[in-house]
Amino acid sequence: MLLDNHGRKINYLRLAVTDRCNLRCFYCMPEEGLDWLSRKELMTYEEMLQACSLLVKMGIEKIRITGGEPFVRKDIMKLLTALSKLDGLKELSITTNGVLTAPHVAELKEIGVRSVNLSLDTLDANRFFAITRRDEFANVMETMHELLKHDIEVKINTVVMAGKNTQDIIPLVELTKELPVSVRFIEEMPFNGDGHSYSGIVWDYVKIFDEIRHTFPDIQKVPDPLYSTSYNYQIPDHKGSIGIIAAYSRTFCGTCNRIRITPQGTLKNCLYDDGVLNIKDLMRAGVNTIELEETLRAAFNSREKDGWQAEQKRKENPNFHESMATIGG
Ligand code: SAM
Repeated sequence: MLLDNHGRKINYLRLAVTDRCNLRCFYCMPEEGLDWLSRKELMTYEEMLQACSLLVKMGIEKIRITGGEPFVRKDIMKLLTALSKLDGLKELSITTNGVLTAPHVAELKEIGVRSVNLSLDTLDANRFFAITRRDEFANVMETMHELLKHDIEVKINTVVMAGKNTQDIIPLVELTKELPVSVRFIEEMPFNGDGHSYSGIVWDYVKIFDEIRHTFPDIQKVPDPLYSTSYNYQIPDHKGSIGIIAAYSRTFCGTCNRIRITPQGTLKNCLYDDGVLNIKDLMRAGVNTIELEETLRAAFNSREKDGWQAEQKRKENPNFHESMATIGG
């Protein structure tokens, strides 16, 4: 079992396979996109597989593939298929915006993907365009239905933003009446990739819950699974469920079981830290597996207590305003 210096079990890796994305969500990156990584800077699939294989041997049980948008990277199904065969890996899942995903759903099912996080901030096509700057709403909905058809669990991730999509909260909750989806409302985080300062949030987890309870007073708390980042609820007679993720308020650090690897190979012990080492650089410098494992263990032994501490350290670094696309959500 892999433990950190605070006695927390680490068993979940989020691997971002690219920084590129086919949407331009205003809260994630500027309209012109980012200064994309060159191919040389990206980890190759072989390097990813090698890193994942070692981490699974060390105690990682679940890997989530994210990005950028995973399905814009060429041959992503080859990586997913290879990962799905890793001995000891209990769960492989994906976070996607759903634009290019529908044609791959049958194959995802075949390789054993049981759950997909689908990012969707609105059920209104015009607002979708306003938020993402792309006309792709129909494709995302097709992906959602395709996943449900193949009996793959769907978790819808909705970032709640003042003045942008708070009118979508109730329609999204209503979606859970007929569909067995879990809709998770996420506090907006300061990762918009444009370097502007960020002065906190209006729609925190308390306000989101109050908004839902106002329309659905009989909403019920349900038990939160181990390591859950969401407070989970259900409305009687609804097929699906509701989650609220206090990603900005950071209420869940005490049980944090996750690490991240960015597309260029940076290992992050916390979403809010600045990266603790670069796995790709170490591999390319020729370190052997034993040395790499030792270096990783040392990094896990110096994890910050929580996201506030990690952010504080990072503020000393001038590149604070990173895009979520380079971190992996
Ligand atoms: N492209 C994939 C997708 O859209 O799901 C995976 C990467 S995306 C960066 C992962 C998640 O991060 C998405 O659900 C997105 O809404 C969320 N995200 C991006 N920027 C965010 C921000 N500033 N605050 C909160 N969530 C954010």
